[in-house]
This record gives sequence, structure tokens and C-alpha cells, in this order.
Amino acid sequence: MSGPNGRFAAVFFDLDGTLVSERTGVREARAAIGTRLNELGLYHKPASAFADTVEMVIGGILEDNDWQWPLWLHSEEWVRRTLAVAEVTVSEDEFRELNQVYRDERSDRAEAIQGWPEALAAARTHGPIGLITNYNDGPMQREKIRGAGLEGEFDGVYISGEVGIWKPEPGIFEHAARDLGVDPRDCVHIGNNIQSDVEGALAAGMSAVLVEEEDRPRPAGLNGDAAWCEDLLGVAAWLRGG
Ligand SMILES: [Mg+2]
Repeated sequence: MSGPNGRFAAVFFDLDGTLVSERTGVREARAAIGTRLNELGLYHKPASAFADTVEMVIGGILEDNDWQWPLWLHSEEWVRRTLAVAEVTVSEDEFRELNQVYRDERSDRAEAIQGWPEALAAARTHGPIGLITNYNDGPMQREKIRGAGLEGEFDGVYISGEVGIWKPEPGIFEHAARDLGVDPRDCVHIGNNIQSDVEGALAAGMSAVLVEEEDRPRPAGLNGDAAWCEDLLGVAAWLRGG
């Protein structure tokens, strides 16, 4: 039994861009890379200029991908590309350090998106709540959950880097459902990425909800089997059958 007027055996959420803002604190964390480069004497512009270059690099990639974040675009990748565009050469040790600076700043500044208490409360009326998130660095993702004040909200946390399966592969959705003792066909997954969240969940037999990513329009090509909500309050209403 599933659907907005039925009951789900469990409700799963994506993290980044769904429950945790991809806006708040992100620019500061990117600028922190510029600050560290300043300290190393490798970059002579303001740290904010480095953040501008990161945004330009990522913006160009997103524009080419219907404003969907490509699965291969990890922080190491955009740091490497931004350094190339900014014409900054670093050693491999420095490169690792710069990525760590970003990870530390990002988790410290993590902020949950408005409407999350309502969405999780509505999910709780169905059953257990799971988190299914694509990230290669499990400890950092758990730090981000803690930093955003979401620790303890989930009955299961499934991070690709720890599970060894990445969305949209159905295996990670099946793994999460099995772990919570439910059938994927009785579950719903809510996320902000058409490919990893919606297509992946549908392939695993789950229902799927695409929640609009902050200030990005409803994308073209949404599978007709998926629901769409403009924000987390919309998700809460959908889960309550409204
Ligand atoms: Mg996401």
C-alpha cells in the first residue's frame, strides 16, 4: 500500500539539497580554501574571489546538466578544476589539505532546510525514517548531519561511501529497506535529484518524490510516476495526504 493517501512502511530522505542546505555555509567553506591558499602564499586574491571562481566552475557544469548535480562531481573534482582555472599549482599534500579544509568548514556550517521538522514529523506518522545519501566520505557526512542538528532523527543512515553502492543503483535502496525490515515497494524516497533520487528509487520499486532544490526550477524530464513538491512543507502536506 502506498501513495499520498495510503501508508508507507518507511520513508527515506536524501540529505544534501533535500534536508541540508546546499547554499548556507557552502560559499564560506569554499572561500576557506582561498584563505588557506593565501596563508600558503599560493594565491594572492581575496578568498571571496576563489569562491567566485568555484561558483563559476560549478555553474558551468550544472548549466550543461539541466541544473542537476552530476554524480561524478565530488568536491575533489571541483577543487581540482577551480585550481586549474585560477592558475594555482599545489602539491598533492596541499591538495589533500585544501579538501580537508573544505570538508571541515562545510560540516561545521551545515544548516537544515526550512520545513524539515514538519517533513520528518509527517514521515514519522508512517513509520521508520531512513536517510540515503550519496557521499564518499562517511564520517564527514555524519558530521554534517550532526552540524545541521539532525542527529538522532533517523532510524537508519545509509551513506554510499560506507554501503559501497551509489544512488541511483537500486541496491542501496534495497539495502536500506532490508535493514529497516520493510519491502521497498511499500516505501517512498524523497530527494532533490532526478537521476540519483527519483530514477533510483523507482527502479528499486519505491515511490518517489522530487523536492525542488532551493531556488532551482522544476526540471524537465521528471518521470510521470514521481510526485513533485516545491519545498519541505509541501513534502509534509503530501505525506499527510493533502
Ligand atoms: Mg541531494
